[in-house]
Amino acid sequence: MAMRRGCARPACAEPATVTLSYGYGSATVWLEELTPEGHPMTHDLCERHAARTVAPRGWTLVDLRGTGTTVAKAMAEPVAS
Ligand SMILES: [Zn+2]
Repeated sequence: MAMRRGCARPACAEPATVTLSYGYGSATVWLEELTPEGHPMTHDLCERHAARTVAPRGWTLVDLRGTGTTVAKAMAEPVAS
């Protein structure tokens, strides 16, 4: 079992339910259901902070929760631009 992880935001004690990652190549901010293992390039967030996430200017926010797709899969199949 993976260790229970908490929200990455300072002073937040909520359990993490969402993993946020940045796709620098495609200027995409990804939200997905909490990944089984933490990764140095991703941030684990609670539901509340995930909902507050906004993409930086010029970036697209893509929420994969509930789609059955993960960021790893989405990145492996880039959307035609
Ligand atoms: Zn939080």
